[in-house]
Amino acid sequence: MLSNEQYVCLTCGYNMIGYYPDFCPFCGAPKKRFITADECSSRFDVVATRVTDEVAGLNSVPPLGLEHSAYRINTGGKIIWIDCPATFAAKAVAPAQILFTHHHFLGAANLYRDHAGCRTGINRADSGFELCRGFTFDELLENPRKIDGIESFHIDGHTPGFTVYLFKNILFLCDYVSLYNDGLKFNPFGPVEETGTGGLRLYEIIKEHEIGLICGFNYVSALENWLPPFRKLLAGCKRTGR
Ligand SMILES: [Zn+2]
Ligand SMILES: [Zn+2]
Repeated sequence: MLSNEQYVCLTCGYNMIGYYPDFCPFCGAPKKRFITADECSSRFDVVATRVTDEVAGLNSVPPLGLEHSAYRINTGGKIIWIDCPATFAAKAVAPAQILFTHHHFLGAANLYRDHAGCRTGINRADSGFELCRGFTFDELLENPRKIDGIESFHIDGHTPGFTVYLFKNILFLCDYVSLYNDGLKFNPFGPVEETGTGGLRLYEIIKEHEIGLICGFNYVSALENWLPPFRKLLAGCKRTGR
C-alpha cells in the first residue's frame, strides 16, 4: 500500500488525498471515474521525453485524462521537477524538489514527497485553495527567487500565484497559454482580465531574458515560432480593452 486512502480521477488526473468525494473537486467527474493511487501506479507509468540534455517532459503512460506535462530539470547538482505527474511511479528518478507553476496539477506530489523526501514549493497565493487539500508545501515562494539556477517569476493571472520558471534559456509556462489552430489563446479557466495582465508581465520577462524554448503543458516550442502568435494574442487583448 502506498497510502491508506488516495484516489486518482481518470478524467483529469487529480489526486484526492484522504477522502473519497462523490465528484472530482477539479473536473466534476463522478466517483466511478476514480481509482486508488495504488491501482494508478500499477496501471500507469511515468515516462520521460527528452527536451534537451538537461530537461525532459514527464507524463503518465498511457495518457491519464487531462494530466499536464511536468518537466524534469537536471541542474547539474540536483534534479528538480516543474509540476508533478498524476501517477506515482516508484522507479521515476525522484527529484530533490518539486516547484509548482500553480495549484491545478499537483499530481501525486505528496507520494513523491513521502517516498523521496523531496521538498515542494508553490507561490503563497496558490497554497490555500481547496484543491491543495492533503498536499504539503515546504516552501511558499515569494518573488523573485533563484533555486539551483532556476528563476521563478510570479505573474498572477490564470491563478493568483501563477509562477513561470526559467532554466538557462528554457521557460516553463504550463497551461498559461495553449496552442489553438494557428495561434495561441489564454487559459480560459481563470479571470479574463487578470490573465491578460499576467500575459503582459510574461511578455516583459520574455523581452528581458534570452529565451530559446517554451515548455507548455502539452507542447514544446521554439520561441521564434511561439512569439509571433503570442504578440498577436496580446494585441487582441489590448484591442478589446482587456
Ligand atoms: Zn477529475
Ligand atoms: Zn491551470
